[in-house]
Amino acid sequence: MRRTKAIVSVVILAIILLLLLTKNFLKIDVDQGEVKKGEIIIERVEDDRAIALDGEWEFYWNQLIDPSEFTAIEETDIEYFTVPQLWKGGDYKGVPLSERGVATYRAYFQIDMSQLEENQWIAVKMPFVYSAYKLWLNGEVISTNGEIGLNREDEIPNRRPTVIMISPKKGMNEIVLQITNHHFYRGGISKSILIGEFDYLYHIREKQITLDIFMAGSFFISGILFLLLYFNRRKEKVILYFSFVCFIFLVRALITNEIYLVQVFKDFNWEIGNRIEAGFSYVGISMVLIFLGELYNNYFPVRYIKEWKVFAGSMLICIFFLPHEIYDKLMIYTNGVQTVYVVYLSVILIKNYDKSLIDFYVLLVGKIILVTLAIHDIIITYAVIDVSTKIHIGMYIYVFSLGYALILHLYREFGKVESLMIQNDRMLKEISKMNQGLEELVEKRTRELEATNKRLYELSMLDGLTRIPNRTSFNDKLEDYWHYALEEGLSLSIIFCDIDFFKNYNDNYGHIEGDRALQKIAYLLYKRVKQDDHGFIARYGGEEFVILYLNKDSKETYEVAEELRLLVKEIKISHEFSAIADTITISLGAISDIPDKQGQATDMLNQADQALYRAKQQGRNRTCMWNNYEYKGVENPKPENVL
Ligand code: GH3
Ligand code: MG
Ligand code: MG
Repeated sequence: MRRTKAIVSVVILAIILLLLLTKNFLKIDVDQGEVKKGEIIIERVEDDRAIALDGEWEFYWNQLIDPSEFTAIEETDIEYFTVPQLWKGGDYKGVPLSERGVATYRAYFQIDMSQLEENQWIAVKMPFVYSAYKLWLNGEVISTNGEIGLNREDEIPNRRPTVIMISPKKGMNEIVLQITNHHFYRGGISKSILIGEFDYLYHIREKQITLDIFMAGSFFISGILFLLLYFNRRKEKVILYFSFVCFIFLVRALITNEIYLVQVFKDFNWEIGNRIEAGFSYVGISMVLIFLGELYNNYFPVRYIKEWKVFAGSMLICIFFLPHEIYDKLMIYTNGVQTVYVVYLSVILIKNYDKSLIDFYVLLVGKIILVTLAIHDIIITYAVIDVSTKIHIGMYIYVFSLGYALILHLYREFGKVESLMIQNDRMLKEISKMNQGLEELVEKRTRELEATNKRLYELSMLDGLTRIPNRTSFNDKLEDYWHYALEEGLSLSIIFCDIDFFKNYNDNYGHIEGDRALQKIAYLLYKRVKQDDHGFIARYGGEEFVILYLNKDSKETYEVAEELRLLVKEIKISHEFSAIADTITISLGAISDIPDKQGQATDMLNQADQALYRAKQQGRNRTCMWNNYEYKGVENPKPENVL
């Protein structure tokens, strides 16, 4: 399974990293020396191990004695005190010691120098000593840490582990160590003073510094990269928080252990360094919690983070505003609270966490390593061997696991966006397909609707029986033609025609036959009129038709009317009941005139109607013109079969 594989590889990677970094890398091999009644004989100095000057040192409480000031004291009167051991808990001449005070230590060692090669040197490695010390070898000051003082005002505390090259003489060498503590809640020496080959001791320290710088560099790069990433896209606060985590751990890497800052800046204020280191655990944990809260807001109880912030905030105020011996003491208790709280939050997170996510295992492994190394450190610290603490490696791996979890989270988000985009794309395609279909459908419907509308319009403009334009249509056309003719100065012709004795036809042949005859005549007239430019015909009503022309004078109008009359006559629809013929005939009344502004279309219509009336009166089956055209010599044909 992919997930299991990933988890396994992460675990293996973490363990390999851990082994590579810690296995022997920072370990000082120490032979337990045994100082007895202030004396030790060192047989051999190996080039791969140091000797701890542990044991009974001469001890002078409440006195700062320079080497030159020592007076001969009866051996039985000499008090001894174990090194390393804190003052508190011990006693001097039966009186319990306090954590504050001053003391002088003295011891003698003898080294066989003859076994050393020419370029081999001896060195002493001093551990952290609270809060200041001064070290002599054979009457000469070889090292100071801060400035010792009989009271708080005179003392300048510092915290600088050192490796001091020494050149012991043959026989016994006298070491005098004055320690004062007015600033720290712990007084005395907590770790072994080592003696050994200079190269070896120095090398160990170099390795420690290298590791610190390596970690600081890693934190720096990650911090900067994630900060840049955040500024690229300011929405993801979690990225910013991670870069803060990196920067906080960067500062920590620089101020702890071999205290790189102190090495580079000799005057670096010890107190500030101490406060920063103390503040770190609160700021650091707070930032990690804020980060986790943002990253896993679904699983993480934000309420608890708030409580933590209040706690950490008040601790920070204490750390930065109270004298450090107070907050230092306070921290013994609050560290316990802190540990319980962090464990509690971790348990909640582990319980709530979605265990199908790889992040869970990554963080779990990181946390397990951190806790393991923290426990390791606690044990080591209690064992009081001067070995560099490993918790910072645990922290390093833990921050790594945080970063890894962040990247997994970002990747997951990216995957979500990607699949959303794909889905979106697919939906868009479907929609566009649907749209296309819809468009086609709308287009089709529109076309159909248009056709229907057109058809409806045509129907409204057509006569139901004869399928030629109806009266409405005619009225429109007459208006059009009238205005057009008026504007253009053209003549307008109106021809009325009415079937002769059609009532008789109906009465005798029946209405069905009458309709049929009407259709035939309508079609006949329509076909002919349509052949001419601007020719228009409509059924005016009943068995009457009306024809319009443009640009035909009276003669031409008359001629076309006559042509129509003959057409009807020639198709010979038999009409036995006509009084003038044995087929159907029509009578026509026509007018051709150029409209003027004073006149109206209806006037011309009436005049054409009157002409028709006259044609009927004159015997039917003829054309009469309204104007005087007929009186100007054009003869009406003689009515055929006039009764
Ligand atoms: P005239 O020669 O004077 O015109 O005699 P007429 O019988 O044709 O008289 P009129 O024009 O007054 O008669 C109209 C007749 O036309 C009345 C009606 O029977 C007939 N008619 C009118 N519309 C229709 C129709 O739609 N279908 C049929 N079959 N006959 C119709
Ligand atoms: Mg009529
Ligand atoms: Mg008639």
